[in-house]
Amino acid sequence: MDRGGTGVVTAVFTLEEVTKRFPRRGGGAPITALDRVSLTLRPGEILGLAGESGSGKSTMAELLVRLQTPTEGRIRFDGGDLAHLSGETLHAFRRRVQMIFQDPYESINPRFTVRGWVEEPLLIHRTGGPAERLAGVREALERAELRPPDAFLDLFPHHLSGGQRQRLSIARAIVAGPSVLVADEPVSMLDVSVRGGILRLLRALRETLGLAIVYISHDLSTVRQITDRVAVLYRGSLVEIGPTEAVMREPRHPYTQALLSAIPTLSVDGPPRRRVALPLEDGPVPEDACRFAPRCPHVMPVCRERRPALVEQPAGHAAACFLHAPDAVAKTSAV
Ligand code: ADP
Ligand code: MG
Repeated sequence: MDRGGTGVVTAVFTLEEVTKRFPRRGGGAPITALDRVSLTLRPGEILGLAGESGSGKSTMAELLVRLQTPTEGRIRFDGGDLAHLSGETLHAFRRRVQMIFQDPYESINPRFTVRGWVEEPLLIHRTGGPAERLAGVREALERAELRPPDAFLDLFPHHLSGGQRQRLSIARAIVAGPSVLVADEPVSMLDVSVRGGILRLLRALRETLGLAIVYISHDLSTVRQITDRVAVLYRGSLVEIGPTEAVMREPRHPYTQALLSAIPTLSVDGPPRRRVALPLEDGPVPEDACRFAPRCPHVMPVCRERRPALVEQPAGHAAACFLHAPDAVAKTSAV
């Protein structure tokens, strides 16, 4: 368990060597969407999860909200094992951990009014009478900056813009008093002009409600705007984690370096970065090798024989790479 010296739980979520595999359609070896990922989400922090499409970000989101369960490893929430929740404890968990989805059109039931959509979680969690629930809906709309709330209560989703719909999703997510939001690409389908407002809103909610937020995006520039720390995934492996500014300014893993070098706007305030072109060859990688070895510009023989471990530092910045931690060899896979 992740406890500080005071005996106080210092993490909201703790992932311990979490692996998730999916059966491959049509048979064959299963797809490893996440491969022995260990990390923590601290109270009140905004943690970014970055990586290209297919790197396992949405799988991680679904594991955190318990839409999926790990194939191996363990996820702890407030110290307890998520896999052991059922009945009342699962119901309580669902109230405390809320998800915001990428598509503000698909994720909202078009038959609900704004009021009905935001009120539903209060009904599910049997919170208050009608007057109290209406007050709760108004407060959530106000916090989500759908103002004045009374002007929105009786509207239907089709009356709202994409940005307003995402605010509606946020109002629904916060109405029952969660402690964690998991936001999976919450601005990537929105017009560029409204993204900044949604990101500022998420930051404001972290301050006012003390929420911890997992902010998932393939877009490192929004990750940089909103997160305190960032975790970088490459094909299901956690390759780097650290304070956002440290990772952006001094990326340690060759994959993170390549990702950042592709975004010139991110390096304007730092030393000029040479663009790292990665080879495309990306065939199967042995279980106990670095997954990035076939594409890595700095590959060494050890990278094809051993898997580098990522050891998360309490305040620090860590990469799963033998260039930085020559002795950090991961445990042999159980498979
Ligand atoms: P990301 O969100 O970073 O794009 P995903 O978590 O969606 O990545 O996917 C990671 C890998 O897992 C991909 O190869 C994807 O095809 C696979 N995957 C995700 N969900 C499922 C599923 N329900 N069934 C089978 N394969 C899946
Ligand atoms: Mg995804």
